[in-house]
Amino acid sequence: MRAAVLEEFGASLALREVADAVAGPGEVLIAPRACGLCGTDLKICGGLIPGLELPRIPGHEVAGEVVADAEEFSAGERVAVYPLESCGRCPPCRRGDTEVCERAVRIGFERDGGLAELLAVKAENLLPFGPSLEFEQAAVTMDAILSSYRALRIRAGVGPGDRVLIVGAGGLGLHGVQAACAVGARVAVVDPLESHRERALELGAELALAPDEVEAGALAPFAGEEGGVDVALEVSGSPEGFRTAAGALAPGGLVVVSGYRPGTDYGVDSMRLALDQLRIEGNRGGNLEHARAALAAVERGEIVPLIDHVAPFEAVDEVLDELRAGNVLGRVAIRLDA
Ligand SMILES: [Zn+2]
Ligand SMILES: [Zn+2]
Repeated sequence: MRAAVLEEFGASLALREVADAVAGPGEVLIAPRACGLCGTDLKICGGLIPGLELPRIPGHEVAGEVVADAEEFSAGERVAVYPLESCGRCPPCRRGDTEVCERAVRIGFERDGGLAELLAVKAENLLPFGPSLEFEQAAVTMDAILSSYRALRIRAGVGPGDRVLIVGAGGLGLHGVQAACAVGARVAVVDPLESHRERALELGAELALAPDEVEAGALAPFAGEEGGVDVALEVSGSPEGFRTAAGALAPGGLVVVSGYRPGTDYGVDSMRLALDQLRIEGNRGGNLEHARAALAAVERGEIVPLIDHVAPFEAVDEVLDELRAGNVLGRVAIRLDA
């Protein structure tokens, strides 16, 4: 089969013939049709994720077709791939937080991923979807949408009339805008880029501010009588972004931290934390059931995956260069059958 292989950290991917993937016990062989690429792939290719062994086929945002009848799946069935195979035995796994399992094996990380003509996946990790979705939409849902959907709809339990502030209106933030608006929440965003702010307004945010406008008090009318928002989602990964998110909360409010940069310290005023009973929660993707729920929300049209463009398999290295240059809004997907 043809695959994009990482043979050396820091080198480009080599498109070459490798041995066909083979389904092991309990696994199903699929033909990936689309594979999303994101900043995490840059970290993988650059050797910034500890413990990865080479050669490796990257690609953790995958959707495709089942190759032949296997387990409960039939040939030709359209499936998205939940990329995490957790151990099922450690304390986080036993309480359902499989996304933080330290022994998890991830497709496109510790085992070969979707930038290949064939991929073997555990049957329970396959999520079927209908013909209303394109393969690339289902593929990017497994990462770019799952994280914001889980943070806002499940962790924060956002509902009608809740005031939600999203700090950072890139891919994660803009999917978050849609996830919150779909349940009748009121949404404001903060982002330094005008193009991001405009996109947020088109997708249903009622207010889009630059960071200096927030400093000048422009969020106050949105915050209303309680003097703050119910929920803030921080996806910028910066200390300023966190201060904006935590500073905007009403008493008892929740800030969900989904963006990060390794080693970055977020100072927080302990008096506000204690006296206003603020809550801070981290969010790392989601488990298999969260992925199933996110895919269902996308199928219902509540969240439209933001795909910058679709590129053929041969262009995989150019796409990684575009991501490195940072001039992509939303995801880029590789179509493996293009
Ligand atoms: Zn990703
Ligand atoms: Zn585990």
